[in-house]
Amino acid sequence: MNDYQVIIGMEVHAELKTNSKMFCGCKNDPFHAEKPNIYTCPVCLGLPGALPVANKRAIEWTIKLGLALGCKINIFSKFDRKHYFYPDLPKGYQISQYDLPFCYDGKIETSLGPVGITRVHLEEDTGKLQHETINGKKVSLIDFNRSSVPLIEIVTEPEIYSSAQAKEYAKKLRQIIRYLDISDCDMEKGGMRLEANISLRKSKIQNPNDKQNPKSKEELPNYKVELKNINSFRFLERGIEYEIKRQMEILEAGKVPDQETRGFNSEKGRTYTQRSKENAADYRYFPDPDLPPIRFDNKWLDNIRSSVPELLDSVFARWEKDHKVDRKLTKLLFETTTEAKWLDNLFSEATKAKLDIVKLVNQLVNRKIKTVFDKDSLYQILNDFKKSVTVDEITDEELKVSINKVLSVNQKAVTDFKSGKTNIMNFLIGMVMREAKKKIEFQRLKVLIEKSIPK
Ligand SMILES: [Zn+2]
Repeated sequence: MNDYQVIIGMEVHAELKTNSKMFCGCKNDPFHAEKPNIYTCPVCLGLPGALPVANKRAIEWTIKLGLALGCKINIFSKFDRKHYFYPDLPKGYQISQYDLPFCYDGKIETSLGPVGITRVHLEEDTGKLQHETINGKKVSLIDFNRSSVPLIEIVTEPEIYSSAQAKEYAKKLRQIIRYLDISDCDMEKGGMRLEANISLRKSKIQNPNDKQNPKSKEELPNYKVELKNINSFRFLERGIEYEIKRQMEILEAGKVPDQETRGFNSEKGRTYTQRSKENAADYRYFPDPDLPPIRFDNKWLDNIRSSVPELLDSVFARWEKDHKVDRKLTKLLFETTTEAKWLDNLFSEATKAKLDIVKLVNQLVNRKIKTVFDKDSLYQILNDFKKSVTVDEITDEELKVSINKVLSVNQKAVTDFKSGKTNIMNFLIGMVMREAKKKIEFQRLKVLIEKSIPK
């Protein structure tokens, strides 16, 4: 194991949540459609003679993501046809981008080192195949509601060196995309799909992120295995771990793993062959003659640039500095820019009212209900918080009288607590407050009750 180093490059697809599809006016809402094939037209069904028109907003959003990832933008760009034959692709080709993606050369920081973004490009999704048995006959059904939904692809350099880093990268990318509010990235439904290209090399470099030891393309292994269509971060991690073991055994036996596409079976916990890998030449890429090339206007690009919000790392750092709140907690509170702005307002109102923001954040994180990010709920939360932190004056001695009374009439709860059912503490706290007819700080009361329970 120590003799090998894993090298991973990732490709992530996410469906943009524009109102209409990528090249036609059909509604883009495949997950909520009442039935199959209701959002279709000659363009997204690939009927002869139908002409595509590119969705401007989808292009803007792709560039917005590229800028948020620190990418450069190709001022001159175009769409290309990528040919392959599969029933979910009615035209026989997918409109994608080949040599001139909208964005290139960006970066995402992970705790295990930076990951270079090779490119971010825009393409169209395919229809969805459904394999079923009808009247005892096995059939494949096809739903074109998803056909030609705008799809972004984010490709990294082969600069990921562990399953943990792959997982962190993918999570961070998803967080950024959701924060920009351009995709829901619903992984369960297939709105975001992960792929990892995995290979092993005999390890020469001790620390792959060591700047003194730059990696070169020559050092890449002469094969790679593509692990495709992964729909959870955990499966990604497990799939990569399985591949490392599998490839190592092949290499140890003096052979080279096949260049192929594999899937991950989550029940068996292992990967399996799907098909041998095509290379770019098999796709016969060429510029789509129905879509004119695009030259971006600098003013238009500047507009997009100015619409890129303050980035996540900067938001977290600012809150840590201004409000002393841990980013591990604030991370749990929001997903989109709108929600981040809402929290900014909440914190500034709380500061004005001289409330303890660390406590407020803790309380928000512990709430089981999902926050509604509107003005009413902002003031509701502040009021509730004010009430919850106002406590009545009461001495420990007075409290102990109430505690002992509650403990003596709730022997069963006490026994349960001692046997490990610690949740029962909340019940006891409530009973003591009722008995004392006072509002008492939760943590203080918890400590006092614990002390009063005989060992
Ligand atoms: Zn259509």
